[in-house]
Amino acid sequence: MVFNLPSKGKGMNILALAAHPDDIEFMCAGTLIMLKERGHQIALATVNNGSCGSATLPPDEIVRIRAGEARRAAELIGATFDCVGIPDLESVFDNPTRRKVSELMRRAQPDIVCTHFPGDYMPDHEIAGLLARDATFTATLGNYSTLAPHPAPILKRLPYLYYFSTLEGIDHFGQDVLLDIIVDVSSVMDKKTAMLCCHASQREWLRHEHGIDEYVEFLKRQAAHLGARRGYAFGEGFRQHRGHAYPRDNILETLLAPKQ
Ligand SMILES: [Zn+2]
Repeated sequence: MVFNLPSKGKGMNILALAAHPDDIEFMCAGTLIMLKERGHQIALATVNNGSCGSATLPPDEIVRIRAGEARRAAELIGATFDCVGIPDLESVFDNPTRRKVSELMRRAQPDIVCTHFPGDYMPDHEIAGLLARDATFTATLGNYSTLAPHPAPILKRLPYLYYFSTLEGIDHFGQDVLLDIIVDVSSVMDKKTAMLCCHASQREWLRHEHGIDEYVEFLKRQAAHLGARRGYAFGEGFRQHRGHAYPRDNILETLLAPKQ
């Protein structure tokens, strides 16, 4: 497994770790674009490889196509893209997977991690969120071996950890999830949409099924729905993990504060 993650630059290292290629674009790309514009380094990564994302192509072919699409979306904002390589719907929280995600975390050396909300709508998302949270912790432990042939150095401190909103902003029971930051992404919606459109295989699949550009329409509906919680045209929502030992000040709000 070779990871392709950024080295430490002047700003903060921010890692968005989701389940599937295109989840990041739906849930937090606007915020990442704004952070990149403020001089921070962005790394995108997924646990799953997108193998179930086609009704016509075999898994190996759609995996190859989707890796290229995700890489192009990352390049649009000067970010890197990596994938842990678990086939869709085969996510499990086991020790081999934990080691892989921990190694990715050490290579990324993130100051901030964004991942799926606990209780998002399907198990790949829930497990990716749990793996990400677990790795923020295991990556800091010197005696935890990832068994990688050339292991990255340990993470020196627990990063800030944020969960981006669930799909549609609701939990398993249809209730709105509690979010403690809504980022106004109205100014970067075009770029967020352009990133999503890099995932052409998924866009065309939905367009074929629905006869309309449902892929882009859903992105806009979701961002409009979350933005409406604060009166923004388009928003992305987050909740900060403030459990034992994690940094609790709201760094996202600080980094995204309007420039004076
Ligand atoms: Zn997904």
